[in-house]
Amino acid sequence: MADVPFSCRCGEIRGTLHGATPSSGNHVRCYCSACRAAIIFANGEDVGDAGVELYQTTPDKISFQSGRSNLGVFSFNPKKLLRFQATCCGVQMFTMLPTPKFALAGVMTNLLKDTSAIGPVAMEAFIPQPDGTSKHSSVMRLYGGTMWRALLARLTGRWKQTPFFDVKTGKPVARVYVPTQAERENLPL
Ligand SMILES: [Zn+2]
Ligand SMILES: [Zn+2]
Repeated sequence: MADVPFSCRCGEIRGTLHGATPSSGNHVRCYCSACRAAIIFANGEDVGDAGVELYQTTPDKISFQSGRSNLGVFSFNPKKLLRFQATCCGVQMFTMLPTPKFALAGVMTNLLKDTSAIGPVAMEAFIPQPDGTSKHSSVMRLYGGTMWRALLARLTGRWKQTPFFDVKTGKPVARVYVPTQAERENLPL
């Protein structure tokens, strides 16, 4: 178990991922077009077909030491997934379901100081197939583990310990920005 520091690119937002182990979360590489588009939208970088790496955990495992008020939120589909971004330097930092009651947080692993605690990528999602479809390397790991962790957080009340939502209103700490049609035009969505 390790407490791993993270920060946005410019360093204004700093925090800690607590109790990280390869089995207490899910180190995933996602190849979906929305993840790729989000990075382009957030800070203009295109990862191409390399995918993006996330560590899926529960929000109570994440704390902020500074700069939390710099968090912004955008979403291509606010009913499905919110993307928390550093408004200071642009980088996408976290993905989150739109309700705090389902405790699932994805941490962008490139912002972690050290990824040794979370182990190597354990599964890949939306892997492009030759016929144009996509598949996951382990559906059990993608849905089983995260569902179980979220359910435990719900049952124990731990879901209320989230720095990303006001649990009374169920609303995220920043207004959700939905990119306009014009902004989406050049994104691989
Ligand atoms: Zn994705
Ligand atoms: Zn920053």
